[in-house]
Amino acid sequence: MGDTVDVVADFVQARNRMVDEQLVRRDVDDERVLAAMRAVPRHEYVPADLTGRAYDDTALPVGDGATISQPYIVAVMVQALRVGASDRVLEVGTGSGYGAAVLAELAAQVTSIELVESLASTARERLLAHQHVRVLTGDGSLGHAAGAPYDAISVTAGGPTVPEPLLAQLAPGGRLVMPVGRGVERLIRVTRTATGDETEELLAVRFVPLRGRHGV
Ligand code: SAH
Repeated sequence: MGDTVDVVADFVQARNRMVDEQLVRRDVDDERVLAAMRAVPRHEYVPADLTGRAYDDTALPVGDGATISQPYIVAVMVQALRVGASDRVLEVGTGSGYGAAVLAELAAQVTSIELVESLASTARERLLAHQHVRVLTGDGSLGHAAGAPYDAISVTAGGPTVPEPLLAQLAPGGRLVMPVGRGVERLIRVTRTATGDETEELLAVRFVPLRGRHGV
């Protein structure tokens, strides 16, 4: 029992260190995002043999070709999405479920789509306690029109361009963040304004490829 408490305390300490050293010291300053990153137990979203590395400054393989993104990249994406408490969010590429859990700390509703059934079902189990999160199995490059429009769309796999169906499902004022390009991608943000869509480049990143109808 005492050991269990110690292990949990170690993870909390590792997580706070992750936030302080990897996020605050760089350019993540949105307090809600930092609080979400302190709250979600990242070690529960990696395979058992990698829990000791869960708070490292790196992406980790989570099986079936998926990776749990580096904590900093998750934070940058979520911060760029400017997720509000009443927002409906779509995530493409559930993977481990970690990104969905972070988004769930910030939004009213999260729909996450994963192409690989085994990943979707593991993530679904991990996220069971979050009633405002649902994990769907399918081709997320098509989005999920039944739940549209979305205030924020997070695409966590890289493709040549932003899939047209995702743009069609973005709400007025909505934000979409996605790695675009081949090999080394650029993380871009599309913001829907009254006068049209504005696209900004945030940073160079490496993601697993977006597959499906509008993927690579
Ligand atoms: N957000 C994830 C990162 C997952 S890596 C996390 O926090 O762990 C990218 C994921 O996108 C992989 O699991 C891959 O299977 C998935 N993927 C690739 N193409 C997809 C598509 N068209 N639709 C849904 N998921 C897709």
